[in-house]
Amino acid sequence: MSPTRCLKALLLAVGSELARAVCQSASKLADLQNPEFVGVPLKRLGDKPLHPFAVRVGVLAALLCALAGCESPRAREPLNLDTAKAAVVRYYESGSYERAVAAVAADARDWIEQYAAHRRPDERLAVVFDIDDTLLSNYPHIHSIGFGYIPSNWDAWVARGEAPAIKPMRELFLMARHLGCDVFLITDREDPSDRAVTEANLRREGLGDYTRLIMRPDDGQKLSVSDRKTAARRALYREGYTIVANLGDQESDLRGGYAEHIFKLPDPLYLIE
Ligand SMILES: [Mg+2]
Repeated sequence: MSPTRCLKALLLAVGSELARAVCQSASKLADLQNPEFVGVPLKRLGDKPLHPFAVRVGVLAALLCALAGCESPRAREPLNLDTAKAAVVRYYESGSYERAVAAVAADARDWIEQYAAHRRPDERLAVVFDIDDTLLSNYPHIHSIGFGYIPSNWDAWVARGEAPAIKPMRELFLMARHLGCDVFLITDREDPSDRAVTEANLRREGLGDYTRLIMRPDDGQKLSVSDRKTAARRALYREGYTIVANLGDQESDLRGGYAEHIFKLPDPLYLIE
């Protein structure tokens, strides 16, 4: 490490410790200035008045923090977009993505197998999957447009019905069916415009043996993705299903309950809140 970096690291360490001391002192000051304490002798507060040394510490800490924070403009740049894209490409094309998915799928398989082994005779078990980047991969399309989202291109991609299955998830899907679980697909793809092409895509990829495909209704409702998906799971619960596992690539697939276990898949391509 260069002497400059050493000095900067030292200043950061010292500065942060002193800043903590200053924060504690500031907290004491704030307490003492609280109207509740006006007129209350300091001794009754069980605290001591600030020593002038604390003021000096505050000044010194502020100077050190300012000095340590004086990084070069280059160091404050966010991650370069081309660098980030290259990292995502490496993640997918090195096999790291599929290995990460396979690890999640293995955990889910163990969980579903154990749950199914102890099911009550009358219990109706269900497994819920999201579709996009959970069962079907959109990486080929998103990579082809240089990443991002272009609505007309996305619609054309969905209409082609050529999204490939994510293999470890297809195996999990088939295993759940083999164990007698009903499989429900809850997706933000729109009904009716995307239904036929999505069904065809799923069949083509060996994912046609599901119980029901639950899509986003084209009824103008402004529910969030999370609320809509939660409502769909709640409806399954009211039908008498126990949702053993809910699997998705977005937190919004998984929030809201109505599942015995959630499994989050990696997705560095986009974020759906
Ligand atoms: Mg998804």
